[in-house]
Amino acid sequence: MAFKICVLGSGSSGNCIYIESNTTKILIDAGLSFKQICLRLESIDVDINDIEAVCFTHEHHDHYQGLKTMLKKTDIKPYANTGTASGIDARLSAIEIPWNIFTTGSKFAIGEITIHPFQVCHDAYEPVGYILTTNEIKVGIVTDMGIITELVKDHLKDCHTLILEANHDPELLVNSARPWSLKQRISGSQGHLSNTQTCELLKAISSEKLQHLFLAHLSSDCNCPEIAETTIQKTLDGLNHQHVNIHVTQQKETTKFVSIIDVDIISIKN
Ligand SMILES: [Zn+2]
Ligand SMILES: [Zn+2]
Repeated sequence: MAFKICVLGSGSSGNCIYIESNTTKILIDAGLSFKQICLRLESIDVDINDIEAVCFTHEHHDHYQGLKTMLKKTDIKPYANTGTASGIDARLSAIEIPWNIFTTGSKFAIGEITIHPFQVCHDAYEPVGYILTTNEIKVGIVTDMGIITELVKDHLKDCHTLILEANHDPELLVNSARPWSLKQRISGSQGHLSNTQTCELLKAISSEKLQHLFLAHLSSDCNCPEIAETTIQKTLDGLNHQHVNIHVTQQKETTKFVSIIDVDIISIKN
């Protein structure tokens, strides 16, 4: 086993991803309440006290809301770039956060996991996506992003697992009761990826190596799990990548807890 992953919850009310390697356990974002993070980790037999670090993608509330209590009750180390750390500091001004600051574009390590943060377009100070690697296994994570840049495509190539935003169905968004300004923000270059954009991204990055695809940050009123899954499945079928397991993330429940292995390594060992 090289990585195990569970998306504890994802959507506009809160985002938190759990990832473990053989010896290192981390979170990406702490956007659920601390209580929910603990309960959902317990449901997959993980003790919150065994987690070493939490890495933040950006300073929006749905990505950090559990942090304050987490810092009070655990020794989990928070990691962010300067922009995100300043953004969260400004919102949690009553406490001093012991940040571990990383530089966007530069790799760093937490235990045996190598982490490579890269720039994405979203309406936050310094938002990032992440590439995580251990033992040749590569996982890509992007949950809030308005447009797909060449830099993003370059980083996400050849992943064994992807956690990608599939925020909205373009038609449901246009026909929703939301004000035009909000519709424009969501579909703009600093907003969120639609199912269609996620398909375009997959056409550029999906490969034989891809084992698991988590669809994340689904809008509750401008998307639905069936539409997102069907749209993405069609694209994977068109690429002849029927081997990929799609997991639609939910706001109130965890996904399956999946193991990611390097199939080539396993077949050589056997
Ligand atoms: Zn955001
Ligand atoms: Zn978000």
